[in-house]
Amino acid sequence: MSRDRNLSARIVRCPCCGKGVRYDHTNPFRPFCSQRCKTMDVAAWAEESYRIPAKESAPSDYETEERESD
Ligand SMILES: [Zn+2]
Repeated sequence: MSRDRNLSARIVRCPCCGKGVRYDHTNPFRPFCSQRCKTMDVAAWAEESYRIPAKESAPSDYETEERESD
């Protein structure tokens, strides 16, 4: 298999905004396009991580009791 030097600069999509970015050492924010997108993605991840998985039953529907069997 021969090496292709042109592959040194790989283009990927920013996970945050979908913009095409170079995935190499020239882009310190890779795979993001910018510091802003990187920060936003980390913040979104953290928010989702800290969020306690709530049950789907909403308080307004609480009066409806579930029937396990009939
Ligand atoms: Zn971006």
